[in-house]
Amino acid sequence: MLGAIEAGGTKFVCAVGTSDGEIIERIQVETGTPEETIPKVIAFFKKHPIQALGIGSFGPIDIDKTSETYGNITSTPKPGWGDYPFVRTMQEVFPIPIEFNTDVNGAALGELMHGAAQGLDSCLYITVGTGIGAGAVFQGQLLQGMSHPEMGHVPVRRHPDDTYEGFCPYHGDCAEGMAAGPAIEGRWNEKAVNLADQSEVWTLEAYYLAQALVQYILILSPKKIIMGGGVMKQAQIFELIHTQVQTLLNGYVALPQITAHIHEYIVPPALGDNAGIVGALMLAKKALEESH
Ligand code: ADP
Ligand code: ZN
Repeated sequence: MLGAIEAGGTKFVCAVGTSDGEIIERIQVETGTPEETIPKVIAFFKKHPIQALGIGSFGPIDIDKTSETYGNITSTPKPGWGDYPFVRTMQEVFPIPIEFNTDVNGAALGELMHGAAQGLDSCLYITVGTGIGAGAVFQGQLLQGMSHPEMGHVPVRRHPDDTYEGFCPYHGDCAEGMAAGPAIEGRWNEKAVNLADQSEVWTLEAYYLAQALVQYILILSPKKIIMGGGVMKQAQIFELIHTQVQTLLNGYVALPQITAHIHEYIVPPALGDNAGIVGALMLAKKALEESH
């Protein structure tokens, strides 16, 4: 049996399951301070004989195994979580293999092994929610360089009619600043979910998301792009994104995935809202395999 944690800014999902991605039991814990949240997480896993643990976490996090601060959440503004030694805390209670990565890298692995990218050796997983984040698997490996990628903060070209300044505290009008959920709400003064029938909202949303995707396609050339998160619940955006990505690429990437079958190339998660937790389970599987 394997343990999995999807550590999010609003909730922690904890599950036990199998290396086939089957979830046996799960709980959800509200994200308070670590002192409030972690004891509940530990109590859940103590009830199960887990052999390895996978953690897909909100970031930024330190995933460099040679670093002194490996396994920490680093510079988050969330009260109590800045410099929190997540892996060390879990490792002290559970002396088993632990694999730690971003929530989106985990989700990319989950979708590759059990979801929309099954049978492929690369995919990109993007969440458009409170922020924008992306994770990726290439040649079967989680994408990692100095640290994990931060693709949500790529620059985008402002629409000439858009006066919204962007909410990213670092860059203002980067992709996250212009297109994550809070940007939609800040620009239109209304909750995104209540704007479902306003077509101009989603055309502009797709305008920014397509620009980010074009950069990812040109730089990384993933075999599948999976888009999840709260904002992507507006299923009508997919078609708008497909068209705008084709327009921006303008035939330059002359592959059938882009020119003919883009609706099968940029897709919602096949695992739905379970992409993150199944991904964390696959991180646990990886931890177990690498310990042998
Ligand atoms: P988080 O990013 O915190 O993990 P979500 O992925 O649910 O959580 O993203 C929350 C954001 O998504 C909020 O800004 C919210 O307005 C937006 N959102 C949630 N549900 C919907 C929906 N059905 N339609 C449009 N936007 C939504
Ligand atoms: Zn930014």
